[in-house]
Amino acid sequence: MDIIVLNPGATEKEFRHILKKLESRGLQANISKGTERTIIGVIGDTSKITEEEENAIRVMPGVEDVMRILKPYKLASREFRAESTIINIRGNRIGGRKIQVIAGPCAVENKTILMNIAEKVKEAGATFIRGGAFKPRTSPYSFQGLGEEGLKYLAAVRKKTGLPVVTELMDPRDMKVISKYADIIQIGARNMQNFRLLLEVGTSGKPILLKRGLSATIKEWLMAAEYVMSKGNQNVILCERGIRTFETATRNTLDLSAVPVLKKLTHLPVVVDPSHGVGKWDLVAPMAKAAVAAGADGLVIEVHTNPAEALSDGEQSLRPDDFMKLMRELKPIAAAVGREI
Ligand code: PEP
Ligand code: MN
Repeated sequence: MDIIVLNPGATEKEFRHILKKLESRGLQANISKGTERTIIGVIGDTSKITEEEENAIRVMPGVEDVMRILKPYKLASREFRAESTIINIRGNRIGGRKIQVIAGPCAVENKTILMNIAEKVKEAGATFIRGGAFKPRTSPYSFQGLGEEGLKYLAAVRKKTGLPVVTELMDPRDMKVISKYADIIQIGARNMQNFRLLLEVGTSGKPILLKRGLSATIKEWLMAAEYVMSKGNQNVILCERGIRTFETATRNTLDLSAVPVLKKLTHLPVVVDPSHGVGKWDLVAPMAKAAVAAGADGLVIEVHTNPAEALSDGEQSLRPDDFMKLMRELKPIAAAVGREI
């Protein structure tokens, strides 16, 4: 038993009685109050509940039905929540009709460059600024980010442009400082199965942009989302950013089929990062367009005013003019699939 559906008329007393019953079995409840009904998601090892106990819960006052979710991820599944989740961040609704665009440099390099990029992407129609202050790099000798100083620049950009901030958290020890400045906490591909980190951001109170691991299956990715959600944070955004395959013509293989697959399996919003997906700036625009056509709720795009001098990921960064052109070209594609950008 994973879900308890309450009667529309269930009383507070009946509700508390059910919660007590779960507690007595060492289980926790995730309460989802819909417009029609309240649904209790049962968290913990539900296999401990015998069939007789399940039947006893089914006939408790206030209970309409008791169900099992066959998928290993529960809170993230469409079975648990049929309605698509919309996450509202300073008025920008991720998962709604409007496609949200998170744009900015790979890394925060200095205040002037960041501010310049932010103003340009905002003018082009981006709705979030991105930039890493703590940078996960393949080499320990590459630029590692500015740390808190970089976060301060991001906050200054938000103040000036109104763009909410997306930035990556790599280590639970930095959660406090990141939470102080970020509107969305990004969990990078290399940390998708860092379970300690996932549990930690589950308590952050911030929406989480969960990137797909380099070799993670969709199921493993949803299980990672489940880790975050099991701590009470339901605001998870899934980000497809390409996976490792035998192909070497692109940095990764952008798995756009993940978008419609996820739309079936989960109620969570899905965004696509074509920049890391392809690794080459001239391939970003076609894949961004394909992502929108495939039903993505948003895009993550790296933009830099001087890609040749960028401290990281310059080769996959769009110049502001190319970003502006892409944003214009995305409009009819979004309209064709019933969205706007
Ligand atoms: C990034 O967003 O700059 C980044 C490091 O992405 P990923 O974790 O997908 O490699
Ligand atoms: Mn990058």
